[in-house]
Amino acid sequence: MPRVNGEVVCPRCGTKMEYRVEIEFGENGAKRIRYYYRCPRCGYRENDLTIVVKRDGAGKIIIEKEEYVKVAVPVKEET
Ligand SMILES: [Zn+2]
Repeated sequence: MPRVNGEVVCPRCGTKMEYRVEIEFGENGAKRIRYYYRCPRCGYRENDLTIVVKRDGAGKIIIEKEEYVKVAVPVKEET
């Protein structure tokens, strides 16, 4: 994403992007928190990161970071 004087600007129209947060509620109290940039002029949107907050069976809170760039995770081999 282009930056001008440290500000993130829209790659389409050059307007300063707004940083926003959106929370989506899922099953079993899980939450998906999305951080993204949005252009107030043309509506262009670019995802920054997504965090998933959920609970495991014991009620422990698990926080996962979802990456937008999907990479293949190598399977750990048992030796
Ligand atoms: Zn724009």
